[in-house]
Amino acid sequence: MKASQLFTKTTKNAPANETARNAQLLIQAGFIHKEMAGVYAFLPLGLKVIENIKTIIREEMNAIGGQELIMTSLQAREKWEVTTRWNDDVVDVWFKTKLKDGTEIGLGWTHEEPIIEMMKPFISSYKDLPVNVYQFQTKLRNELRSKSGIMRGREFFMNDMYTASIDATQHDKIYNGVMDAYVRVFERLGLGDDTYVTFASGGSFTKFSHEFQTVCETGEDIIYIHRKKNIAINEEVLDDETLQKLGITRDELEKVKSSEVANIFNFGTDKSEQMDLTYTDEKGDKKFVHLGSYGIGVSRLMGVIAEKLADDKGLVWPAQIAPAKVYLARLSEDVEVVKASDKLYDDMRKRGIEVFYDDRDVRAGQKFADADLMGIPYRIVVSEKTCQSGKHELKARTESDNKMLDNDGILEYLATVGS
Ligand code: ATP
Ligand code: MG
Repeated sequence: MKASQLFTKTTKNAPANETARNAQLLIQAGFIHKEMAGVYAFLPLGLKVIENIKTIIREEMNAIGGQELIMTSLQAREKWEVTTRWNDDVVDVWFKTKLKDGTEIGLGWTHEEPIIEMMKPFISSYKDLPVNVYQFQTKLRNELRSKSGIMRGREFFMNDMYTASIDATQHDKIYNGVMDAYVRVFERLGLGDDTYVTFASGGSFTKFSHEFQTVCETGEDIIYIHRKKNIAINEEVLDDETLQKLGITRDELEKVKSSEVANIFNFGTDKSEQMDLTYTDEKGDKKFVHLGSYGIGVSRLMGVIAEKLADDKGLVWPAQIAPAKVYLARLSEDVEVVKASDKLYDDMRKRGIEVFYDDRDVRAGQKFADADLMGIPYRIVVSEKTCQSGKHELKARTESDNKMLDNDGILEYLATVGS
């Protein structure tokens, strides 16, 4: 990636029509573009972050046997009428439209009904179970509020997984496996310490659904966390019954603001009964399938990480999801400086290190400001001075100290830090 060829440019000031800090910074740094309220395009640098988050999720979903597919945004009304969820009084976020012949269709805001319908021809015997499928998809929701930037979009990226099992025992095992995979995802994203498995409403088999809530000042939710037990209760289900069930008391809990980064549901057989999804067991009896539904907010996560880590200079990305690991700032057009910078760029790339090469003929101050605003984990400065000494300057985004290292020293150092 070369700055001289990048499609986007950074801007000095935050956009006037945006109040959420995540979106302000992401727009300023050229990661996203605001199309309208709650609707954002992901530009080359922003898309890199999204793809890096997706890679981590995909690895964890594959590791538990998930099979990736992709469903449709256009949704048939009939499938949703079966469960009453076509009704706008039941689901208040539908975008609906019409085909030329007048047929009403919906735009996918989630995909439970269509996946259950899709499972029918493939599940007939107990031998066909369990099933575990997932997708990454753009969800469309007519959200009432849209003041949280990419943390609440009317169009956003979700990773949703759906599982089907023969009975509660098999289902519980799979459900717990997905839960563990989610925990690993949030750990790998650097949110492990601040993300709580939270008891919330919803789910039909048990009283609760499990949310994953990340403590965040700008989150829209309020949760009560139990630091020692590492669990939390959503405000909406905080009552004596819940406290008793979890064996905790009200005074052990701390009230914090948070953002729901994922939500998982155990449907038991409720949905398969509604939609008639059955299989034949070993004895030849017809049984209803046990279903689970699991969703991670991919773009919301990017917003939460942006909000939580940003400082007064701009974004700060963890190395594992940053659009590049290194911001290589070349401070001169001098032949020797260009030569040394190009060599470092090639050497880093050969080692699989992602580099954003600022090869523009602009002031040093602008390069440093952009490196900080974009939040690239490491900055290397190559100048006439560093070329004379043979040692270039390497600095971490969040530190003020720098190191002076030669070409090989830089390569060695970068191999040891982050991922
Ligand atoms: P919320 O209560 O925040 O509206 P939800 O309960 O409607 O979320 P789900 O339908 O369970 O969310 O979706 C799964 C995940 O998708 C959520 O946990 C969240 O991380 C993400 N998500 C939901 N709505 C949005 C949105 N409008 N913009 C961005 N991400 C979202
Ligand atoms: Mg919602």
